Amino acid sequence: MAKRDYYEILGVGRKDDEKEIKKAYRRLAMKYHPDRNPDDTSAEEKFKEATEAYEVLSDAQKRSAYDQFGHAAVDGSAGGQGGFGGGASFSDIFGDVFGDIFGGGGGARGGARANRGADLRYTLELDLEEAVKGTTVKIRIPTHIKCEGCGGSGAEKGTQPETCGTCHGAGQVRMQQGFFSIQQTCPKCRGAGKTIKSPCRSCHGTGTVEDQKTLSVKVPPGVDTGDRIRLTGEGEVGAHGGPPGDLYVQVAVREHKIFTRDGRDLYCEVPISFVDAALGGELEVPTLDGRVKLKIPEETQTGKLFRLRGKGVAPVRGGAAGDLLCRVVVETPVKLTKKQKELLRELQSTMDESGSHHAPKKHGWFEGVKGFFESMKF
Ligand SMILES: [Zn+2]
Ligand SMILES: [Zn+2]
Repeated sequence: MAKRDYYEILGVGRKDDEKEIKKAYRRLAMKYHPDRNPDDTSAEEKFKEATEAYEVLSDAQKRSAYDQFGHAAVDGSAGGQGGFGGGASFSDIFGDVFGDIFGGGGGARGGARANRGADLRYTLELDLEEAVKGTTVKIRIPTHIKCEGCGGSGAEKGTQPETCGTCHGAGQVRMQQGFFSIQQTCPKCRGAGKTIKSPCRSCHGTGTVEDQKTLSVKVPPGVDTGDRIRLTGEGEVGAHGGPPGDLYVQVAVREHKIFTRDGRDLYCEVPISFVDAALGGELEVPTLDGRVKLKIPEETQTGKLFRLRGKGVAPVRGGAAGDLLCRVVVETPVKLTKKQKELLRELQSTMDESGSHHAPKKHGWFEGVKGFFESMKF
């Protein structure tokens, strides 16, 4: 059987661009799609023919070969007669051309559409300790449960839902718009396939009532603000018997009095006396596992960071624990007695006598200021 010209099949011109070709194929495929023409072999043939033409003409290389040499140049590379094998796969074309119309599939065919329930989000506030060590928390979330008054049917006690007269129970209706035949959710029953004459007073015909459910959430150690824990199937119930959505528990870690966290590292500030800073000493610093001792060398300046390896956080996605970084802050003593003030003045005078090398920063600063003034030309 002689094959028809691909351009003729699609009803496009030889100079039409890819967009026109796609549009033409889409129109034909909508019309002859096997789903819309069950048991109609001539429609199926037309659909296959259009698909084959589209496979060739939508591919720049194949199209150019076809333009020059006709069918012989592309036979076998396209779907071929009656088959969808080879070349661009059927689903490739489908995803491309129909993705936005069929919405990725999933709906039950020929019956009321079973929609997956919506995903829910819950913000879970945790203390830093809980986030780092992991915990199990109970949360209460709003949910819909089956209405007891009507047993979930939505119809007042003693009555039954009736099959929808508009869609005859299918939940879907076909709308004819010119060449297009578009399947839509039935506007009367909104996809349920049934209508309720006297709705249940407890649930207003929805079949479900609001309630709260308690869930146990296992928080793995190492989570941080922004991490999500998914509880499969704990989202909203699906409509018309569809599967439930998921619940996403979003972690938010509260501010801590002592520690701030940056990824796997923890930071804290440790005040020390200027005597300890000058002479060195041993400090007790807090970690999430209790206190540890930290040796401070003599002549420690304020702001110095001390790293305690492995005292940070082990990340939730695995890997070694980070470090705890303690920043020492030298504190100026307050509420000094007369005697203490005298001692400090005495100390000061001894340091003045022996020169400015006691204060490295101050020394460097004065040198800098001196140089700054000298370089200025008044
Ligand atoms: Zn209906
Ligand atoms: Zn009810």
